[in-house]
Amino acid sequence: MKSSARVVVIGGGVVGASVLYHLTKGGWTDVVLLERKQLTAGSTWHAAGGMHTLNGDPNVARLQQYTVNLYKEIEKESGQNCSIHLPGGLQLADTPARLDWLRMAQARGRYLGMHMEMISMKEAKELNPLLEEKYFVGALYDEDEGSVDPYGVTHAYAICARNRGAEVYTDTWVTDLHHRPDGTWTVITDKGEIHAEHVVNAGGLWAREVGRMCGLELPVLAMEHHYLMTEPMDEVIEYNAKTGRELPHLIDFAGEIYARQEGQSILLGTYEQENRPWSTRETPWDFVFQLLPHDLERIAPELERGFAHFPAVGRAGIKKFVNGPFTFSPDGNPLVGPIKGMPGMWSACAVMAGLSQGGGVGLSLANWMIHGDPGADIWGMDVARYGDYATLEYTNSKVRENYSRRFRITFPNEELLAGRPLHTTPIYDRLLEHNAVMGAGFGLEHPLWFQDKGKEPVEEVTFYRSNAFTNVGEESRAVRERVGFSEASNFAKYKVSGEGSAKWLSSLFTNSLPKIGRTALTAMLNPDGKIVGEFSVSRIGDEEFFLFGSQAAEVHHPRWFIAHLPKDSQIRFETLALSMLGLTVAGPKSRDVLQKLTATSLATSDFPFMSFRRVNIGHAPVWLSRMTYTGDLGYEIWVAPEYQRYLFDLIWEAGREFDMRLFGFRALITMRLEKNFGTWYREYRPIYTPLEAGMERSLKFDHEFIGRSAVETEMKTGPARKLVMFQVDVDPSAPADVIGDEPVWHEGKVVGWITSGGYAHYSGVSLALGYIPAELAKDGTTGFEIEIIGQRRPAKLQPEPVLDPSGSRMRA
Ligand SMILES: Cc1cc2nc3c(=O)[nH]c(=O)nc-3n(C[C@H](O)[C@H](O)[C@H](O)COP(=O)(O)OP(=O)(O)OC[C@H]3O[C@@H](n4cnc5c(N)ncnc54)[C@H](O)[C@@H]3O)c2cc1C
Repeated sequence: MKSSARVVVIGGGVVGASVLYHLTKGGWTDVVLLERKQLTAGSTWHAAGGMHTLNGDPNVARLQQYTVNLYKEIEKESGQNCSIHLPGGLQLADTPARLDWLRMAQARGRYLGMHMEMISMKEAKELNPLLEEKYFVGALYDEDEGSVDPYGVTHAYAICARNRGAEVYTDTWVTDLHHRPDGTWTVITDKGEIHAEHVVNAGGLWAREVGRMCGLELPVLAMEHHYLMTEPMDEVIEYNAKTGRELPHLIDFAGEIYARQEGQSILLGTYEQENRPWSTRETPWDFVFQLLPHDLERIAPELERGFAHFPAVGRAGIKKFVNGPFTFSPDGNPLVGPIKGMPGMWSACAVMAGLSQGGGVGLSLANWMIHGDPGADIWGMDVARYGDYATLEYTNSKVRENYSRRFRITFPNEELLAGRPLHTTPIYDRLLEHNAVMGAGFGLEHPLWFQDKGKEPVEEVTFYRSNAFTNVGEESRAVRERVGFSEASNFAKYKVSGEGSAKWLSSLFTNSLPKIGRTALTAMLNPDGKIVGEFSVSRIGDEEFFLFGSQAAEVHHPRWFIAHLPKDSQIRFETLALSMLGLTVAGPKSRDVLQKLTATSLATSDFPFMSFRRVNIGHAPVWLSRMTYTGDLGYEIWVAPEYQRYLFDLIWEAGREFDMRLFGFRALITMRLEKNFGTWYREYRPIYTPLEAGMERSLKFDHEFIGRSAVETEMKTGPARKLVMFQVDVDPSAPADVIGDEPVWHEGKVVGWITSGGYAHYSGVSLALGYIPAELAKDGTTGFEIEIIGQRRPAKLQPEPVLDPSGSRMRA
């Protein structure tokens, strides 16, 4: 065995083999894969081999599409048969809501270049006569669905990688990992040690255990999963003979069943409600090419439905049952990427659909390792989307919830309940007393909107306008006309201090740093000039700053900051998390409310827009910021947790005379639309540039910053696409606003996509933000349509914010 290698990949399942393949394809050939037994010995060998492109996250869907298309290439290159079958697939809707969901998936597929078609049940029956039409109302046909042989695929990846110089050591068990002081790794195995610059955890069923070798507790859990295989069926044989084709795959959402042809039989699997995690604390190391005892009683309700929906399968003899474990993250998407604060450690695990996703995971990770960037927007599977709150127990409850919802619709306004409430702030019970409907993000409960007194604080889930509509409207109007009050703790807050802080931040941020006592908005770019962060930066000393950003990125952004800290510097970067909490008071009367409570003059001449200063409110010392995301006169108040409850009561009392109203996150995100304010992970993502995103005001060329030369180059040609606001003419008979990811049509062609939108209550219009080609983004271009739930709705460009384009309200 080699004693050193640039990369050691731990795990010879389909994912580890794909990572190895993509590293060699990208030119890194001093790479080694270590497999404790034989290739595929974990969950890969017993996978059903099904693959499809459909995923709730369009970026993950794109990578699934890449994976499906890769198999022919590796089969040819390796000479290893991968047994590729591409008969297409049918997703069967049993309700109008599911049909809407499929229409939305189809619409998303349009700008991803996918070939999907909505078809009638008559057409579906012709394509797959095994189904019983009466249980369904319509179907989506996707031609990129099929199956492969997991053994063949894993070996094909490995052969291609070996041919380019990679080495694969089987029967080699990694027992420990040591991080050396120089940042490199010693990989300890039962066959000796390897010194490596990079280590990839592709440990599959043992990813948790591999993580623990370097002190990580990854949010991964294995679940038991059943499928059955029938005896050869006459119906299948006849169909093949008659049509010369294989039967297309079936996904039956109502039955929670998937089914496909395997030889002359049908393979039918289920995501049962009565699901069971496997090895919740530790995966046994002696589990090799093994299955679990099957438990037919547990899957009986789903099988019964499946047999009713596909009667011929119910009549067929069963050749075998398979019950095997495979891993999930809390939201069911993979955990990919570099580990924060652990240079050289990479994750490629929790891949629940290795045959659909393995190629995309390998490609993104290899790109990230070789080029410093995954090459695609992979936030949906970034390991950094979870924080410390994702413990073993949290993961257990979320994975079980996710497994049982595999074939259920999650509506855009739906808040899932498992693992909640977890993090709460001191005013949590106050908000509940005010009948808040709560949501959760990054483990923290936050108010979405406030239900009327005496009514149950529950939001009905829908693709259309929900029962929150009226109340969110009232909350928005209260802010715009009088004054609104809310919690603002669900932002990420960081503190940067120590000698060199200003110089360092300046090298990362596109905007000039603010003066002491002021706030500036800035972008943060990668060397290619793409947006990797967007922050408010408040300066409280020469070398002392607060940064405010997206809470969802509370691990993601620190990973970038920490990786860019100068060596041996005095700079301290702290994630403040819930040690700093927020309240916000917004609206024309907000100053009057707060002025009652502080001796500091809040007059604009003394405390102008974008000020950030230490003041006392009542007895509480706070950091007071004169800005809000609503776009009105307003304030954010940042405090230590012990003051938050006191301040809530104090401000609530002071607001009574102004008829102050509580507002939630739903009102906030629609109010920001009226001001054309973008938001992280929607409008601002690592696939867009600041010129595309309209962040010119945050670009200052008075300093050097990462990505500057890329921006300057782009300035010469102009951006290829632009972020624009549309006013949408929604269907008055069933009003539905955009939710994001809808295609934008122009003159019969899909030219862009929507990033976010909603109803702007105060202005009384439905708005949508999205990216379109720059040449179409010119004022005066007409003829746009946005496809909302299967309907192309007229949309017109809205070049200026619908509310207060000059910004006079904020500055008042
Ligand atoms: C019944 C069933 C049906 C399925 N059907 C499908 C399907 O139709 N389509 C689909 O896409 N997916 C399916 N899956 C899921 C699929 O099996 C997984 O997504 C896939 O196998 C994950 O691959 P992996 O490489 O991440 O993990 P694994 O296959 O578990 O590979 C991890 C490897 O790492 C090795 N390893 C771990 N720790 C160490 C160590 N310390 N030292 C050395 N080696 C180590 C293990 O021995 C193992 O070989 C199914 C799963 C089950 C259980």
